[in-house]
Amino acid sequence: MHLVKITSVRTHILHHDLERPFQSSFSTFRARRHLLVEIETDTGLTGWGECLGPADINAAVVRAMTPQLLGRSPLEIEPIWLDIYNQFRDQGQRGVIHTALSGIDIALWDIAGHHFDAPIHQLMGGAWRTSIPAYATGGFRPEGGDHATACAKEMAQYVAEGFKAVKIKIGYGVESDLATIAAVREAIGEDVELMIDANHGYDAIDAITVGRQAAKYNIHWFEEPVVPEALRAYQQVRQEQPIPVAAGETWHGRWAIDEALQQDTVQILQPDVCGAGGLSEARKIITLADIHHVRLVPHVWGTAVALAAGLHFHAILPPAPPSHEQRSPRLEFDRTYNPFRQEIIQTPIEHESGMVSVPTGPGLGISINRDALQRYCV
Ligand SMILES: [Mg+2]
Repeated sequence: MHLVKITSVRTHILHHDLERPFQSSFSTFRARRHLLVEIETDTGLTGWGECLGPADINAAVVRAMTPQLLGRSPLEIEPIWLDIYNQFRDQGQRGVIHTALSGIDIALWDIAGHHFDAPIHQLMGGAWRTSIPAYATGGFRPEGGDHATACAKEMAQYVAEGFKAVKIKIGYGVESDLATIAAVREAIGEDVELMIDANHGYDAIDAITVGRQAAKYNIHWFEEPVVPEALRAYQQVRQEQPIPVAAGETWHGRWAIDEALQQDTVQILQPDVCGAGGLSEARKIITLADIHHVRLVPHVWGTAVALAAGLHFHAILPPAPPSHEQRSPRLEFDRTYNPFRQEIIQTPIEHESGMVSVPTGPGLGISINRDALQRYCV
């Protein structure tokens, strides 16, 4: 039997300048820019992955990791993960080492899926569900625009499309945020789940004020109220206001997440498979969430490659607890403008009345549209 070997690792930076820039609590998005990782083998099998965060830095780190991949079997996913991590861990216990390694790991799982002709979720032990209820993510502040009005209109549109849950951005100031939350609740009605995400735009004092006053609008979770390093502030926010606290997209690997969970920071953990260290690390984080008894709701942001990887992650999340009425964590479905998100794959991953099917083809279950990829590559 021929032993398959890695022959090249390519990075693809995709870029589109935004006609209408938008803002989170601390950054202004003037472009959509994401990094894809493509790993090729001598048998012609190719795998795709994606890295969360700044594309250029991720690309540089993936290139620095590439010598440890060339010539090896892409099926040795765990040994490759640990070998690479071990070479970079002194400078990389969280952050870009994890985000770069995530893209590599996802691409290796994609290759394994093609090699064994099975979807990733099957290789990882099997799926608990075949379709995932999604929530619409959006509600950023348009640069120079009125957040409450824009946000209420945008969320009403998602509800009209069939979403039963939506998430908005806050962190622009206590008064302004409370006005936005009130306007959105009014616009979407009482039956739609509403989540708020401050992108760590508050200190504990303001976060507690917002949480106490926003609770009457029936908020499903309060995401990243404070900066991710401030674990004791998380504890405080969790204890002193009534909305369940969510975070985890920047805690990355198992050690940072374990530390956060040991300190009772959140009720809802949100690792991103493109940031936490890939699907291999996601599986370990599932175990941590189980042991600490927190709800795991993955974070998803990026292109359809990230979305597909996120769907396989969702598929393997065990029901917690197992019961007759099994609750499925909601898939984060980014609705903010990104022309290449779906264009770069042959068959777009769409929702139907707020439900998204888990891909069933080999690997990630997507095929890349090379023409579209070229159009957006820098
Ligand atoms: Mg977030």
